[in-house]
Amino acid sequence: MPFIITDPCIGTKDSACVDVCPVDCIHPRKDEPEFAATTMLYIHPEECIDCGACVPACPVTAIYDSPESVPASQKELVEANAVYRAGDAGAVAQAEAIVQQHVQAHADLMAVPPAERAVAHAG
Ligand code: SF4
Ligand code: SF4
Repeated sequence: MPFIITDPCIGTKDSACVDVCPVDCIHPRKDEPEFAATTMLYIHPEECIDCGACVPACPVTAIYDSPESVPASQKELVEANAVYRAGDAGAVAQAEAIVQQHVQAHADLMAVPPAERAVAHAG
């Protein structure tokens, strides 16, 4: 099962996970044209090898080890990770639309600082 990036990445997006991923399956990278416009980063579900290196690298606990581990209040972001494809404008727009819907549906949680958001979702 692939690893999943969730919403504490929003407002953080520091690419620490990209730097440690051995298979370059986290996008967009800072050197990709989509980086400035995307709200968060995404893990390619078929390229992720489940090594776990990205989890301790993330400063805000945004990464879960499987779709099943993602809290109910973040489940739609599993699909956002699944549809995002670097270099595919339609897929990027589709992933970002899911994220924007998620942000609007959880305005209360998005007001929580990124470093505390994962705990807020769990609670
Ligand atoms: S689990 Fe490993 S392969 Fe998958 S996104 Fe994280 S660092 Fe990359
Ligand atoms: S390390 Fe965490 S916050 Fe930073 S880009 Fe990756 S998922 Fe986002």
